[in-house]
Amino acid sequence: MDAILKTRRPGEPEPNLVDYERGAPGWWSGIDRAADGTLNIAEQAVGRHARGPRRDHVAIRWIAKSGAVRDITYRELDALSSRFANALVGLGLRRGDRVFALTGRIPALYLAALGTFKAGGIFSPLFSAFGPEPVRSRMSLGEGRFLVTTEALYAKKVAPIRDQLPALEHVLLAETLDALLAGSSPDFATAATTEGDGALLHFTSGTTGTPKGALHVHGAVAMHDYTGRIALDLHPDDIVWCTADPGWVTGTSYGIIAPLTNGVTMIVDEAEFDAERWYELIERHRVTVWYTAPTAIRMLMRAGREPIARHDLSSLRFLASVGEPLNPDAVVWSQEAYGRPFHDNWWQTETGAIMIANYASLPVRPGSMGRPIPGIGAAIVRREGERIVEVATGEEGELALKPGWPSMFREYWRDPERTAKCFRDGWYLTGDLVKRDADGYFWFVGRADDVIKSAGHLIGPFEVESALLRHPAVAEAGAIGKPDPIVGDVVKAFVALKPGFLPTEETTRSIIAHARKELGPAVAPRELAYLETMPRTRTGKIMRRLLRARELGLPEGDTSTLEGSS
Ligand code: AMP
Repeated sequence: MDAILKTRRPGEPEPNLVDYERGAPGWWSGIDRAADGTLNIAEQAVGRHARGPRRDHVAIRWIAKSGAVRDITYRELDALSSRFANALVGLGLRRGDRVFALTGRIPALYLAALGTFKAGGIFSPLFSAFGPEPVRSRMSLGEGRFLVTTEALYAKKVAPIRDQLPALEHVLLAETLDALLAGSSPDFATAATTEGDGALLHFTSGTTGTPKGALHVHGAVAMHDYTGRIALDLHPDDIVWCTADPGWVTGTSYGIIAPLTNGVTMIVDEAEFDAERWYELIERHRVTVWYTAPTAIRMLMRAGREPIARHDLSSLRFLASVGEPLNPDAVVWSQEAYGRPFHDNWWQTETGAIMIANYASLPVRPGSMGRPIPGIGAAIVRREGERIVEVATGEEGELALKPGWPSMFREYWRDPERTAKCFRDGWYLTGDLVKRDADGYFWFVGRADDVIKSAGHLIGPFEVESALLRHPAVAEAGAIGKPDPIVGDVVKAFVALKPGFLPTEETTRSIIAHARKELGPAVAPRELAYLETMPRTRTGKIMRRLLRARELGLPEGDTSTLEGSS
């Protein structure tokens, strides 16, 4: 497919990264580093703006489900988050304590994030679509002492597991937050955190075992800030809308931190996807930079050109996408439908910020994730025992990054073994398979492991299987991703029943209902099929690859380790 060339419209600013080939790693260029070595994300995001010329600029324009709009300026956001920090400290928050949030996209979430940074705590946002079990596993791993939530979410997701969270001492309800904040001072001396101090704990999924808590530090702000300018092309007058929920790392790095450090106005929409609502929002609020995900883009494609014709979307200047492979036809479609191509970019929870991107100043190659952020060392490698070997141009291999960029995760929380596994022979190994063309553009091929990407959410098959095994009828369970034209993959489960249970529709309904109740709709399987026994390796591991190959009618590959094979 041909590359999409872009022309600047009259009055449009020049891209921040004018010449990619000469791009220098100015990671810290937008950050005020204090002489005493202290650094705090909230100070960079709001504190300094509240004292400067942008103090009365709108920081957050929040749009409630009802459509009501609330503007919060930098000065207000600074004061409110200071009140929040005072409230936390008043309740006994100590440096490094974990503050979890389970709220949906309401103002309390943003105040909690910034207030926690200021107070020197570690913030951990959770998806409100999670069921009680993912909430329990993450909060107990992270030993959350504080939880910010709403009455409804507490009743549904936390109350059933409250007695399994011994570390949880304080539950702050959004409904009573105003009173709490009113009773706290708007002045707060930001904790003297430094670059290497923990700030954020973002959970992600692996193939096996519990979820992993990727710990990010205050120094990550340099990369959020820089990539906001370089990869999302943020300019001071921009109205930025990152549609991701902060429960996913994109919604924190680019739905809170990067827009604020850059001093722009960011839109927060409380509601879920709706094509008509989204176009109305872009039109009414004159969104200029729009950062979303392939699942949403495919849903917009399905909604068609008619709603686009009814709205004035001419404010849009830069469109970006992340989280799953963006099909080339979606890029071409967006160019035709909006007159702007989506710029795909790549990163993951562990990298903390965008690592590979299509830039405003370069032609977009539909289907390619783009080229590394200036200063990021990206290679395509093969594991040879303990050694890491680069593959030839055009060959497929694992994407590896040179460690040391500021937003690199520092550890999987309390799990040095899993942390160490990602680093080998001087590289961080991403678990993604990619290719690179002769011009240095990277192309996504697939995952090297069995994790499932559904509607942009990374789902660990083990978490799904564990929940299924807690249903009384299930003896064995295996979960795979099954391709879906809209959401990328849907979760499909295979189960073997215990003696005495029959594979009836009623059993299926009961198992799926159980999974939805425990895991929540974002994680639970959509489809279920029965097997007599699960294919396992001789060491007892479920061969999900084989389940997937059989499901999709693909070659079964090497089955020599299959239990029962000779
Ligand atoms: P998460 O840690 O939940 O953000 O998920 C990260 C994973 O999402 C990556 O390791 C990739 O497998 C996938 N991913 C992210 N961005 C892209 C992209 N632009 N194209 C293809 N896959 C992507």
